Amino acid sequence: MAPPDDSSRRTAGGRLRILIAEDDPVSALVLRRVLEDLLHDVDHAASGHEAWKLAQTSPYDVIVSDWMMPGVDGLELCRLTRSRLEGAYTYFILLSSKSEREARIEAVAAGVDDFLAKPVDTAELEARLTTARRILNMQDELRTRSAKLSQTTGYLETANRRFSDLFMGLPVPSITFDTEGRIAEWNRAAQSLFDLDADEVWQRQAVEVFADPDDLEWAESLVQRSIGGQCIENEERTVHRPDGSPRYVLYSTFPLKNNAGRIIGVVCTCSDLTAQRNLEKQLAEQLRVANNLNEALEAGKEELALANARLAELATTDGLTGLKNHRTFIEALEPSLAYAKRHREPLSLVLCDIDHFKHFNDAFGHPAGDALLREFAALLSCHSRTEDLVARCGGEEFAILLRNCGRENAIGVAEKLRAVIADHEWDLRKITASFGVQTLVDFEVPSIEAIVESADRALYASKQAGRNRVTHAADLHSVEAGKKAA
Ligand code: GH3
Ligand code: MG
Ligand code: MG
Repeated sequence: MAPPDDSSRRTAGGRLRILIAEDDPVSALVLRRVLEDLLHDVDHAASGHEAWKLAQTSPYDVIVSDWMMPGVDGLELCRLTRSRLEGAYTYFILLSSKSEREARIEAVAAGVDDFLAKPVDTAELEARLTTARRILNMQDELRTRSAKLSQTTGYLETANRRFSDLFMGLPVPSITFDTEGRIAEWNRAAQSLFDLDADEVWQRQAVEVFADPDDLEWAESLVQRSIGGQCIENEERTVHRPDGSPRYVLYSTFPLKNNAGRIIGVVCTCSDLTAQRNLEKQLAEQLRVANNLNEALEAGKEELALANARLAELATTDGLTGLKNHRTFIEALEPSLAYAKRHREPLSLVLCDIDHFKHFNDAFGHPAGDALLREFAALLSCHSRTEDLVARCGGEEFAILLRNCGRENAIGVAEKLRAVIADHEWDLRKITASFGVQTLVDFEVPSIEAIVESADRALYASKQAGRNRVTHAADLHSVEAGKKAA
């Protein structure tokens, strides 16, 4: 049903739209005159039925209705108006000669606002319309306020629903609790973190729910500090779920305040760091394993280096005497020779061979021969300078490379070694050795072979001359030249 238009609402003395419902034409005419004289807009319906039809199509501020009418009487018209007309309020004045108390109570119950006795007194009618205008204005004000209120309520409901949806859907586990520490909200992320539904925790003490039982002291402190107005940032605790699995949780809180600034509750977020912490543990474990592997690798490397060194030692060393072997000696000769030539430094080579060693072997056996070779080698080593290279060249032949050592010195060294051997107190019998020496003097010696060969020839000369002696290759020429001259 269309609401009557209330835009014309009514300043003092302004026009009111008035419907007269009166089946008596004379009374209706009198009333109409009076109201029109008071400058109101007036319609007349000759029956209750007609009045109801008009009231539904056209808004009236006031209906002045006779009580007694055939069909729809004044009371019924009032009931219809009250129950079926929406929108602005219609002030209802009932005309009646009835003055009994019961009749009036019935009329008020039907929604009648006022009564006027017939015949109508003009001054009284005007006074009643003043009251009507005041009541209508109040009704309008009430309607406006109520519309605003329901609009505000709508906004609030929407805002509340949006906040609630947002809170529930937050990916961070979040809860709120009141100033008594009782849980009010518990979002979905919190449900899955603590494995408890919202209805299981509602109004329970937060400390019992979001912390381990043996961590109550800390939980209570968090709640008290938050309620006291403190914003708490990132306090990490371990919480165990009902199945015993640990969760690493980071707690932060901030207080909720009302318009007056009074704290009414606390929002608490509980970020789940479990995945992060587990990853860190895994990484630490992997790092530990990697470190162990690395240490093992380093140890392996050291072992390998030692083994390689041993291998290199074996490859360069003579197994029986521990001296450098023949190959190493030959390899060392070349750079030594080049160095000596470049720096114009003297370089001497001493070859030595045990005298009559075959005979010793034959006399005392091969093992005794081996022992002799070891002792002989030790003597050579012991009486040489550390920078001299002492090597076993094979069988019972040895070589000593003397760096930065000229002819006389080399002969001196060879002589010293010869004497050491000859004078040594050997277990089984006296031992001697023969020596051949060559020295690089003019720095134009063509090759290693040449220097070795001439030292060998000198050694051979020592053997020839009766053994246990030293011959320098340079002296061979003069000897040979002397022989030739003779
Ligand atoms: P010379 O005075 O002319 O040098 O006579 P020699 O007997 O020392 O020389 P020869 O070349 O006739 O004999 C060398 C002997 O050295 C022959 C060989 O059995 C022995 N010999 C070579 N190598 C070894 C070894 O490793 N151990 C032992 N016990 N004897 C060896
Ligand atoms: Mg020999
Ligand atoms: Mg020999």
